[in-house]
Amino acid sequence: MLEIVKYPHPALRYASRPITEIDEGLRSTIRRMFELMYEARGIGLAANQVALPFQFFVLNLTADPNKADQEQVFINPEIIKRHSSVEGEEGCLSLPGLYYDVRRARRIRVRAYDLEGNLFEQDVDDLFSRAVQHESDHLEGKLFVDYLDTTALPEIEDRLWDMELKFRQAQRGGQILPDDELKRRLDEMPRVPPVPPEEFGMKTRQDEPEPPAEGPVD
Ligand code: ZN
Repeated sequence: MLEIVKYPHPALRYASRPITEIDEGLRSTIRRMFELMYEARGIGLAANQVALPFQFFVLNLTADPNKADQEQVFINPEIIKRHSSVEGEEGCLSLPGLYYDVRRARRIRVRAYDLEGNLFEQDVDDLFSRAVQHESDHLEGKLFVDYLDTTALPEIEDRLWDMELKFRQAQRGGQILPDDELKRRLDEMPRVPPVPPEEFGMKTRQDEPEPPAEGPVD
């Protein structure tokens, strides 16, 4: 079942492989990823965040499912230019409840394939630029907390520690597979598997209510 995985799931530290074929598996997965993203009130979601070791992510900066015209898919993305830098608040659906300032390039040029297989280049700035950089990092196994000075922010270490504890408990309880089995599945997955139709439109079960969106959440 496709779901958003949380820190410290090994998929979040996995360097993903390029997509070689746009097929029905990829198309149905992308549709389902938009659904999951909207349910979690995010503006972006990377394949690593649903435990798929492939290079693509989805964005809708409005976070509004009624604005489907704002949906964008980036397949095998590459940031080819970066200009100036700016700090801005970020959050991540795989690290719920954490919001911190991160310095990123203010303007970038990104090159990627769309879902029709067309190569495109796009110049983006501000929130759009931040979101593309945040999601591109996911595909390389990087998280926004990697940029933070943890010695200056001990509360982050506390929160990460809590998440790690919860994750390991779930593994011991059998609700989540052990790390080596999760890694083996990532290594061996040949392509994006199709999402079964019955998964569409389901509400995701949540252990606790999501915090209100205070900033960019992806
Ligand atoms: Zn994220």
